Amino acid sequence: MTKEVKKRSIMNENAPNRSTGIVNGECSNILNWDDVRFSWAYPKYKKMLANFWTPFEINMAHDIKQFPTLSEVEQESFLKVIGLLALLDSIQSDYAGKVADYLTDSSLNALMIILAQQEVIHNHSYSYVLSSIVNKAKQEEVFDYWRTDEILRKRNEFVTNGYKHFAEDPSVENLLKSIVYDVILEGLFFYSGFALFYNFARNKKMVATSTMINYINRDEQIHVGLFADIFKELLNENPEYRTEELAQFVNDTFVKAAELEIEWGRKIIGNKIDGLSMSEVESYIKFMANRRASQMGYDKPFEGYDKNPMRWIKAYQEVDEGKTDFFEQKSRQYTKASDANKFDDL
Ligand code: ZN
Ligand code: ZN
Repeated sequence: MTKEVKKRSIMNENAPNRSTGIVNGECSNILNWDDVRFSWAYPKYKKMLANFWTPFEINMAHDIKQFPTLSEVEQESFLKVIGLLALLDSIQSDYAGKVADYLTDSSLNALMIILAQQEVIHNHSYSYVLSSIVNKAKQEEVFDYWRTDEILRKRNEFVTNGYKHFAEDPSVENLLKSIVYDVILEGLFFYSGFALFYNFARNKKMVATSTMINYINRDEQIHVGLFADIFKELLNENPEYRTEELAQFVNDTFVKAAELEIEWGRKIIGNKIDGLSMSEVESYIKFMANRRASQMGYDKPFEGYDKNPMRWIKAYQEVDEGKTDFFEQKSRQYTKASDANKFDDL
């Protein structure tokens, strides 16, 4: 038996501003950052604003010159990854909007809207990259890869079916399960693509595009954290769903997702890209699947994959933690805008 989730009403005069539940709660729908249900919501809001970026800030001149000099295999893998990301980010903004409708908490609704906006920017960046380096016909072909590529189709349907179940039958159980697919989309399905681009960057290839990929990666890390928090709060408030069946579902879904991601990795990376071995990428995917399952509060699905086998990737991934100055192409003025609001210490 599974509880339905109800849509948040536009206005509820009899409810408090601070909501009484993450779903099926009471809330006026007024947003006051000083009076919200979850203490982690405001710091996330600040971080999302601090990370704000747009593709226009990135100068593509060097990549435009360099793209034709890449090997045929490199060009193909580059375009395949962009095509894949374009699909995932497109459906992601829609999913975020659908989840937002059912969260009875105005601050989490606000975070979902910012998340969805960031997905729109990610999507824009793929058009921006493609319109710089290939002609219009090729760009359209890349945006249609998902229709024709069998491996890609299988992978995408895996996630989109999980989203559809929730969209068509919005229950607590389907929301929880759809969040597992969300964490896979934002926190695992991008990762062989990220590895490909960071490998390009460390070989001084397509650095402008890789910079954009880095900003996208940084946003996605926050998105995954946000959905993992929502998942945990849902279970805290609806403990009857914390079942062995759900734990098994999480485990099986991550195992299947890692298999699909590895299959895709074999196609775009295989052993044909200099500096990237497929066995390393495979271990990396299993390591990331473990990390995501733990983030959601579950056991690791892959025993023995506790360390990142591609240590070098960290330097490219964690740019905002001051671990590298590799991607310093854009001014960081957004992050410096200091905010003196009184609710800053929340
Ligand atoms: Zn995205
Ligand atoms: Zn995202």
